[in-house]
Amino acid sequence: MSDLPYVVIIGAGFWGLSAAKTLAQAPVRVTLIDKQNHHLFQPLLYQVATAALTPADIAVPVRWILRKQKNAPVVMDRVVDVDAVAQVVVTESGQRIGYDTLIIATGARHSYFWQ
Ligand SMILES: Cc1cc2nc3c(=O)[nH]c(=O)nc-3n(C[C@H](O)[C@H](O)[C@H](O)COP(=O)(O)OP(=O)(O)OC[C@H]3O[C@@H](n4cnc5c(N)ncnc54)[C@H](O)[C@@H]3O)c2cc1C
Repeated sequence: MSDLPYVVIIGAGFWGLSAAKTLAQAPVRVTLIDKQNHHLFQPLLYQVATAALTPADIAVPVRWILRKQKNAPVVMDRVVDVDAVAQVVVTESGQRIGYDTLIIATGARHSYFWQ
């Protein structure tokens, strides 16, 4: 098991979860890291804002989503650095997680008000 390639995925949004699930049957070890414990289904934020849904309706624990997937443990932590030379991800709590392949799926943010 330990000889298998090690894939680290940062972000449990649409793309991070999709990558983890795609690798479910692959001969790799996967670790999924997210700063939150839940996946947020952003397209339904409007319905929460208008009280048509509760926040719990659009936020699902990442570990529950991947509960049947044997090769993908989930780490809740914020990634603060990536050492691409040493192939190590550094987290806010001080963990250093090595990888063979790194998938960065941390989403996007607007820059409307930035110069
Ligand atoms: C209000 C709203 C409505 C939308 N409606 C639609 C729609 O109708 N149809 C559509 O196709 N798209 C829609 N979108 C866009 C869609 O939600 C995004 O394109 C999609 O969520 C992007 O997926 P992602 O995986 O790239 O990033 P995200 O879903 O943003 O996931 C990124 C993840 O990375 C984690 N993360 C970020 N930084 C770190 C870090 N340093 N360390 C650890 N974890 C980190 C975050 O916690 C998050 O879980 C909508 C978006 C919004 C806001």
